[in-house]
Amino acid sequence: MAVTMVGSIEEADVLVVGGGTAGFGAAIAAGRKGLRTVLLEATTKVGGVMAFCPGMPWGGGYPVDTIIGGVLEELTERLATMDPPAAEKRPCTLENFGPEIIYDHDIATLTMFEMLEEAGVSLRLNATALAPVMDAAGRRIERVECFNRNGGFTLQPRMVIDCSGDGDISAKAGVPYVLGDAQGNMMGVTISFHMLGVDWDRAFAEPDPYFTRFAARGVAEGRLHPDLAKLYLMKGFHRGDVFCNSVHVRGVNGIDPVAVAQATQEGRRRCHQLAQFLRADVPGFEHAYMAQLSPTVGVRETRKLEGAYRITGEDLARGTRFADGIVCCDNPVDDVMRASAAMTHDVAVAEGSYYTIPFRALIPAEIENLMFCGRIVSADAVAFASVRGMPQCMAMGQAAGTAAKLAIDAGCAVQQVDTGALVADLSAQGVRGLGNAELVAA
Ligand SMILES: Cc1cc2nc3c(=O)[nH]c(=O)nc-3n(C[C@H](O)[C@H](O)[C@H](O)COP(=O)(O)OP(=O)(O)OC[C@H]3O[C@@H](n4cnc5c(N)ncnc54)[C@H](O)[C@@H]3O)c2cc1C
Repeated sequence: MAVTMVGSIEEADVLVVGGGTAGFGAAIAAGRKGLRTVLLEATTKVGGVMAFCPGMPWGGGYPVDTIIGGVLEELTERLATMDPPAAEKRPCTLENFGPEIIYDHDIATLTMFEMLEEAGVSLRLNATALAPVMDAAGRRIERVECFNRNGGFTLQPRMVIDCSGDGDISAKAGVPYVLGDAQGNMMGVTISFHMLGVDWDRAFAEPDPYFTRFAARGVAEGRLHPDLAKLYLMKGFHRGDVFCNSVHVRGVNGIDPVAVAQATQEGRRRCHQLAQFLRADVPGFEHAYMAQLSPTVGVRETRKLEGAYRITGEDLARGTRFADGIVCCDNPVDDVMRASAAMTHDVAVAEGSYYTIPFRALIPAEIENLMFCGRIVSADAVAFASVRGMPQCMAMGQAAGTAAKLAIDAGCAVQQVDTGALVADLSAQGVRGLGNAELVAA
């Protein structure tokens, strides 16, 4: 549905800021409800981290080996049923992770664009939301100042869904936040690349997902950076393709563009070094070459916004299923190189169990027409390390887009949304395991 121009201000029902997996889910859900939905994305593609690190599997979509449903399931089905298939479910090679979805990056991106089109979403690429303008009481966002290459423009949405990964708009609107863990340490950023033309059978002959035997030699001989003691290399979607998700740069403030640019350049150097090492030292890579080097580092963690509820590590450990739970999850606590070089994949929830993410973690305590989802969800550091998988981010977006419709129709604040109706609506959209339902295959 088209947005409306009033003078130089564009009116919309919903403004989604950021076209990562969360923003994708939010815009699809709001658009399908007939809301005039604008999706602003600062870069040239949808996907967010998925676009910055092409080929990154969708992890955590199968708590207790059952898909979470909703938009993620629909997208996966569209891809998996193509001829030839463009996605498949496979076991993750890392400890404690369940199955994941790998896909053809370009076809997945194209399909996401098509789904946004079909939902009637007005997608603005290369467009950045700069600052909210609040009402006098500071309780509503009245307008959002934005810019693209032609200069500034203003949107006047009834509802704002912040899916920016960094929570810029929410923070500027006054939502309290912490940066990283309680001490301000953020997880390492990562730059990925592919090696094409790999002989898989020889490359993956040893059952070590980290190639530690080879990496130890490279580090000892000064041919690999010391942070490359574990090389996470996995089979890509197409035969002969290896996805290299190994180059982490520590101590980077992901909301500082200068620091991100420097980390990207430093990361590129390490990727090139690693590609040369693989070719020279690891059987199966002799004739391989580097491709799809990330355009920028993928940033895991910056602001954690303070919501009406903050999901905690204890909630996870107890396998809490909230009455307003909007998506199921059993991802491990996947902590990647915060201040130390430690990487953990600790179990978050007892085997065979799962928890849900409550809607209240997507809404601020006070601002009435703002929601936030994806990696900026309200969570402590432990819970964050588990909830941040792309499938859960997409589902959080789907919940916020759906809640926008309920709030707009009822003329109420997001804090007053009927969460029973929200859970029922999401269940009707195919999101599994909510309310009193168990997570079971349809
Ligand atoms: C290196 C790395 C590896 C990972 N591995 C996995 C994995 O294997 N499996 C998995 O499921 N998850 C993985 N994750 C986690 C997952 O990718 C992220 O948590 C998830 O993608 C976050 O989605 P998001 O939509 O919240 O934010 P993002 O993906 O960060 O997207 C935010 C989007 O908002 C845009 N934006 C920001 N500010 C503005 C603005 N002001 N105006 C307009 N647009 C804006 C950005 O350009 C970006 O496109 C990984 C993350 C990283 C960084």
